[in-house]
Amino acid sequence: MDQHFETQAIRGQMERTGYGEHSAPVFLSSSFAFETAEEMAAAFSGEAPALIYSRYNNPNTDELVAKVCALEGAEDGIATASGMAAVFAAMAAHLRSGDHVIASRAVFGSTHQILTQLFPRWGIAHTYVDPLDIDQWEAYIQPNTRMIVMETPSNPGLALIDLEKASLLAQKYGLILNVDNCFATPFLQKPMDWGAGLVVHSGTKWMDGQGRVLAGLVVGHKSLIEPVRFFARHTGPALSPFNAWVLSKSLETLAIRMERHCANAFELANRLEAVPDVDFCRYPFLPSHPQYELAKKQMRLGGGILALQLAGGLPHAVRFINALEMCTRSANLGDSRTIVTHPASTTHSKLSEAERNAVGISPGLVRISVGLEHVEDTWADVAQALEKARHSH
Ligand SMILES: *Cc1c(COP(=O)(O)O)cnc(C)c1O
Repeated sequence: MDQHFETQAIRGQMERTGYGEHSAPVFLSSSFAFETAEEMAAAFSGEAPALIYSRYNNPNTDELVAKVCALEGAEDGIATASGMAAVFAAMAAHLRSGDHVIASRAVFGSTHQILTQLFPRWGIAHTYVDPLDIDQWEAYIQPNTRMIVMETPSNPGLALIDLEKASLLAQKYGLILNVDNCFATPFLQKPMDWGAGLVVHSGTKWMDGQGRVLAGLVVGHKSLIEPVRFFARHTGPALSPFNAWVLSKSLETLAIRMERHCANAFELANRLEAVPDVDFCRYPFLPSHPQYELAKKQMRLGGGILALQLAGGLPHAVRFINALEMCTRSANLGDSRTIVTHPASTTHSKLSEAERNAVGISPGLVRISVGLEHVEDTWADVAQALEKARHSH
């Protein structure tokens, strides 16, 4: 019988070395040695799995990839030095000049820059589609469309995309469905169960969850990972063994951390919804979320991120953020510390106002990545900042 998520994340550890260590060691070695020339030749021929050079793989990246594959229900995968290296490798390995991509309009900022600034140089076109209107996507598929690129829930608007519908569309037209699962993590949502071909992650966020390392992963069907492995092996976005070791340790606590992040976020979202000068609070597991039913269908819990819109627009959001005493003003998310961001002026400032409006990023929108502090302390800080922001007109 397959072990449970929590057990796989802990017991999916590499085999012990001769020292009998209980906790996996770090292999800070750039290359590996062979007893004979024949053994080395066999390793290079690819006949059997082998350790050759840490740009290709390393015991620590192998352990991490094997764990994430087990957690996502994927056959194969690679680890990369950042989430963006994973996003780029997953697309660049499969797309060529003349190809076309269907992309949800609400993708991560740097993914947007790849699609709009870099890919056109290499003759790869895209069409942005509305994440909230998946039934319209089919109309934008062209004979040269190769891939669907999407994120759910989206950042920072928390729009959801129906994974089952996206998979059926991809299957109908023979497209690769490539899902960035960073916001949900495999604990909350498994795109491969619905039929996705590739799943990418920024391990930097919830997977590490403590703001220490940058990392990325691409996992998926074996045949779809082959070209990604070739691309990564020869272009070099390899994850360092040390960061792989940190991340693999982090996964041991992913389930228990996510449960608490989600519980804290749900509690804050409920309280924020009742604050008079909060226009709305978006959280997938609040019944007021326009896609609440879909959230319940494809997510185990609502996630650690919520977004609120302050009635007084930009000045109100700025006053609120400046009045916070404990929560951190930072661009990151998915940390044990609660982080508050103003997307319109920071993470999404490179988008035009029209592009921001199209994905619901108004000047008054504030994103909160809810941490693991006691929820009453986080609420106390948020509540006092809301109070100050209300009175200092
Ligand atoms: C942060 C993030 C990325 C990029 O990851 P890095 O590790 O910062 O390179 C990609 N997608 C999503 C959804 C993210 O939140």
